Amino acid sequence: MIGQRPVTFMTEKRSEINQLGEFGLIDRIASKFDARNVSSKKGIGDDAAVIDAGNDFVLLSTDMLLEGVHFDLSYVPLKHLGYKSVAVNVSDIAAMNGRPEQITVGLALSNRFSLEAVDELYEGIRAACESYNVDLVGGDTTSSASGLVISISVLGRVEKDKVVYRSGAQSHDIICVTGDLGSAYLGLQVLEREKEVFLTNPDMQPDIEKYEYMVGRQLKPEARMDVVHELKELGITPTSMIDISDGLASELLHLAKSSGKGIKIFEDKIPIDSQAFETAIEFKIDPVTAALNGGEDYELLFTIRQADFEKLKNHPDIHFIGHIHDQPAQNVMVTKQETIVPLKAQGWNHFA
Ligand code: ADP
Ligand code: MG
Repeated sequence: MIGQRPVTFMTEKRSEINQLGEFGLIDRIASKFDARNVSSKKGIGDDAAVIDAGNDFVLLSTDMLLEGVHFDLSYVPLKHLGYKSVAVNVSDIAAMNGRPEQITVGLALSNRFSLEAVDELYEGIRAACESYNVDLVGGDTTSSASGLVISISVLGRVEKDKVVYRSGAQSHDIICVTGDLGSAYLGLQVLEREKEVFLTNPDMQPDIEKYEYMVGRQLKPEARMDVVHELKELGITPTSMIDISDGLASELLHLAKSSGKGIKIFEDKIPIDSQAFETAIEFKIDPVTAALNGGEDYELLFTIRQADFEKLKNHPDIHFIGHIHDQPAQNVMVTKQETIVPLKAQGWNHFA
């Protein structure tokens, strides 16, 4: 709607979207739609929609990446962007305990892009299709008046008794998180700083070697399909699951709300990479705040029954950060000083 007068339908009343926020807006949309088909098993409100396809459930999810909002082409290589745009979609299928099978790619391009640039973007998309074993089966191409837009939809599949929703957490379940958190956000801070330095003095060489891990986490995230496969091999089905796209705090609150339960986590259990920790201090950012609210880690956050703990307790890449309890809305973190603080989500608000 850029450059046009905002359209108001029927009434002259105008309400600002940012008062509702992204999640409020989604809830508002969801409240106006009921499922008409019995095959629509789960609609709005999880990482992917769940469709009854007979023997299995089919999973469907869409994610859109916009230039200037989600990425800056002055430091994001197109090949990485292509890879990431597939990975973030696959991550939503992983969060349902499913396997991705097909993607479609919607692309809006301006004449700023050469054929070579499009080739590079698709080189990344192809690499991701290869690593996640996904087929590119269609899409749409159009021109854009305001930068590059990539909208990907992914179809996945899961056995009916293995689908995992955000809503399944039970009291006493253990809260698990994969990998480490906050690094992708810190990688973005590094890239933004180097961009500023470059703009002020183009002769300066970028100083990102020491930050390679974090920059990699920002530019080339991986969906944790490896964890989905491992859990399957161990015979563990999480009770609830979500992927961490907006930040640990925001996703914990989604799990708690969807499950009608409360959560308690321990600050000293939150996994933070040692380089990320140092970088946060250098940037005068609290490392725990980066982990709780940074976002874009694309790790998995899930809950397991206590009975499954033995099978996972020595896993090098799965961390146990707290548990579920039966007091809804009592979502807290026990700090390193052993004080109890309410857990609040900052998340990303693109409408702010
Ligand atoms: P995720 O971060 O896992 O991609 P989102 O927070 O983007 O999830 O979306 C949460 C839920 O809201 C999902 O079920 C998604 O399909 C749905 N959703 C998001 N935007 C819209 C929209 N504009 N119209 C309908 N459903 C939407
Ligand atoms: Mg998600």
